[in-house]
Amino acid sequence: MNKRPFNEGLLHFLGTSPTPFHAVASLVHLLEAEGFQRLHEKDRWTLQPESRYVVTRNDSSLIAFTTGRRPFCETGLAMGGAHTDSPCLKVKPVAEMENGGGARLGVEVYGSPLLTTWFDRDLSLAGRITTLDNSGNRPGVRHTLIDMKRPVAIIPNLAIHLDREANKNRQVNPQTELPPLIAMPGGLSGTLETLLRKELTNQEIEVAPEAVLEFELSFYDTQLPALTGYNQEFITGARIDNLLSCFALARALARSTGESPALMVLNDHEEVGSQTPSGASGNFLVQVLERLIPDPEERAMASSRSLMISSDNAHALHPAHPGKYDPAHSPRLNQGPAIKYNANQRYATSSTTAAYFKEICRRNEVPVQAFAMRNDMPCGSTIGPITAAITGIPTLDVGVPMLAMHSIRETAGCEDAFYLYRAMTDFFQSMA
Ligand SMILES: [Zn+2]
Repeated sequence: MNKRPFNEGLLHFLGTSPTPFHAVASLVHLLEAEGFQRLHEKDRWTLQPESRYVVTRNDSSLIAFTTGRRPFCETGLAMGGAHTDSPCLKVKPVAEMENGGGARLGVEVYGSPLLTTWFDRDLSLAGRITTLDNSGNRPGVRHTLIDMKRPVAIIPNLAIHLDREANKNRQVNPQTELPPLIAMPGGLSGTLETLLRKELTNQEIEVAPEAVLEFELSFYDTQLPALTGYNQEFITGARIDNLLSCFALARALARSTGESPALMVLNDHEEVGSQTPSGASGNFLVQVLERLIPDPEERAMASSRSLMISSDNAHALHPAHPGKYDPAHSPRLNQGPAIKYNANQRYATSSTTAAYFKEICRRNEVPVQAFAMRNDMPCGSTIGPITAAITGIPTLDVGVPMLAMHSIRETAGCEDAFYLYRAMTDFFQSMA
């Protein structure tokens, strides 16, 4: 696949994946279109060699794999990981609030967004609605994805005339300031539940009036991602951290033939610490590996021969803030993925895994950079070290450099996602 259609696909994926549920649904669709067979955790699996499969958990995490020609214990697996979630504002269970100024919806802050970037944006709502059907012997649950797509809310800033300090010491009170304005007083015509029933009816989904409704909804910016810059050298949009990696890995795995054993794990809940069944600390990956290689001896052999590349974006050198970076470890936009190093193991990279990745990049003419944090600033972390610890598989942390991580509109380079895709395409086929 060439860079242009790849980047167009990436922009489309970013724009149509407002939540992890939507991202996973469209990746399943992408993989099924490429011949991956759908598995479900609740079923018995009969796996064939040289075949390709995909399975999800909680509709928000995904594992896809190819089985290869030889036993896993002889080859190991080429594994790639990323996360599907991004910081955002999630709607609270009892959300409706109103005064003379308007009707708002209460929200909780998910992860650590740059809150000031959420003001004065045309916001929409998307997520999952769960309906409980009590007609059978035991309650049945049905999930429906919704995406209102149109702007339905805004978080208006306070005018400079009412806050003369706004350009100096801007502080955001998440409880009082963040609930987005959604209608005039009384304009919601009932509760949020009424509004959701209306959305379901619009999607031609029948729900009995007495059926219980639950929801996991979040707000997102309706401005679509774009190529930006005088020479279109930047990609801007929401959720580049880390849907860019999800897309590059999925496209790379889709290219694999099934002859070489490979696995991609995309976890939800990285932004809130990963301690959930579908997060990296949960047993989703471990359980899939147990079903893939049931014999413990063979599984241990396979693990030791495997390698995991965990991809999560890195901080690119910001032209206005060079002092925030270690000068020798400040990756540039459009100069390739950055290997992330941390002596205190906030990243899982070792000399073994870094050397392997550098060789993959060298033979594909992909430039590669190094990132390490300044010693006088704390270092972030990601799913790499967690996955490495629970599986024992040698792991590399790598990421595409980007600016404004966790802003409602982030910036990356237009070359780097494609570089990552090229390196991962080769890597996924390297264990035959
Ligand atoms: Zn991330």
